[in-house]
Amino acid sequence: MLMLKAVLYARYSSDLQNPGSIDDQLRLCRELAERQGWEIVGLYHDEAVSGASLQGRDGLQRLMEDGQARQFDIVCAEALDRISRDQEDMARIHKRLRFVGVALHTVSDGRVDELHVGFRGTMNALFLRDLAEKTHRGLRGRVEQGRSGGGLAYGYDVAADQGEGARQINEREAPVIRRIFKLFADGQSPGRIAAALNAEDIYGPRNRLWSGTTIRGHRSRGTGIINNELYRGVLVWNRQRYLKDPQTGRRLARPNPPESWIRTEVPELRIVSDALWQAVQLRQDEIENRSRAIAEGVRIAAKAREQGLLPVSSGLCRLLVCGLCGGEIIHVGRQRYGCAAHARKKACDNRRTLERRVMDAEIRSVLEEAAVTIMLHAEPLEQEAQAQGDLQERRMERERQELVVVEGRIQSVMTAIEDGLYTPALKTRMQQLEDRAARLRASLQIAGAHQRAALTAPRRFTAQARKLIGALRERDDTETVLKLRRMIGPVAMTPAAGQSGLRFTLRARRGWEG
Ligand SMILES: [Zn+2]
Repeated sequence: MLMLKAVLYARYSSDLQNPGSIDDQLRLCRELAERQGWEIVGLYHDEAVSGASLQGRDGLQRLMEDGQARQFDIVCAEALDRISRDQEDMARIHKRLRFVGVALHTVSDGRVDELHVGFRGTMNALFLRDLAEKTHRGLRGRVEQGRSGGGLAYGYDVAADQGEGARQINEREAPVIRRIFKLFADGQSPGRIAAALNAEDIYGPRNRLWSGTTIRGHRSRGTGIINNELYRGVLVWNRQRYLKDPQTGRRLARPNPPESWIRTEVPELRIVSDALWQAVQLRQDEIENRSRAIAEGVRIAAKAREQGLLPVSSGLCRLLVCGLCGGEIIHVGRQRYGCAAHARKKACDNRRTLERRVMDAEIRSVLEEAAVTIMLHAEPLEQEAQAQGDLQERRMERERQELVVVEGRIQSVMTAIEDGLYTPALKTRMQQLEDRAARLRASLQIAGAHQRAALTAPRRFTAQARKLIGALRERDDTETVLKLRRMIGPVAMTPAAGQSGLRFTLRARRGWEG
């Protein structure tokens, strides 16, 4: 049977707070391809903050070119908005692919047709796409009626007699909320407010003790008592959307951009006045400004340390080698990194240096590509190892058979000698046979051990490399960097045309081959 050829497309934001994103997207796409029995023949991806424009999205542009050349049958993406959030672009891409007979499939929608593109495009443009889901439709209706779109917040009770999802103010909890707002606006810290409430045996949400976090939460995510807009009579919904992980069946929450949040006035649920709400916002602004100032101070201090030319460790730079001389890349001063041989003795012509921030970003993008490459090659490599193993096994079988024959002959010679047929020629023959048997036994022993290691090597390699790359997304720990370098080889930093004046390439090496 002819297998359809599929390519995967993923787009991920450069925001390192969401490092799992590309892995998740590719895994979901791969699973879709596997379920459908497609052969994955390529992978395209872009690192882009926004899906709104095709500018700077080389991956997608290459995909379109290769699609035009009919190098595959299917494009597979996690969702339509990974390809584009712009309706016109989306329609154009779909049309061009359809023209050359390439189908577009997404994990969330299956095969994408024209109607889909139009409909989804509109929805995406409004950032409301998940509202189209059946369950959400019901919830949205309730939100618009000013009822609960999620869990029950502190300060409210279920008003069962007013229909599903309706709520009303809890007259015992509402004064506590007003008190928290007042104290915070007056300059008390969330931790102190929590301690005072706990000391009075006033319980917090879900009957737990109060903590600073319960009160403070995260302003940008709208969590925490002082950030809950419901208390000023505004219901906010659609802060996040949910994707179902087909492997585990678990729902994964993804934050929605603030533009897609839905706000509904619910004056009957108001607990704090607008003036008090504003006072709390103001104090939060002050706190944020102060912490920004502290961060700036830290930055200035770091810069001063740089100018003192003290070595500043960037764990990631240990992954690099100079593309010209193969030597180390080191900190050469003023936050910049370059070839050690050039910096120390001008012994190398690689005079380019680059800023740590840029260098780290370049290395990270090489690592992400490496992670993808490793993942895409995991299976073929295991198959290759298996095939090599089978060959090896056949060779070992021949040796085992030969050993049986040789041992049989040794036995015959022994019998001849015992029968009194001893001759010098027989003695030489005996020696040869003994040698051969010893060599076969040694060979079989070594091959057996090698065989066991070789069969599991690709799997171990893949797992270990992905684990290390994953760890480096969190922090650039030198030991992890060095371990990874031993496995996948160094990244060469070579002078090149272009913006940074440098090219970064993984000197690909298949780690388990030593
Ligand atoms: Zn060099």
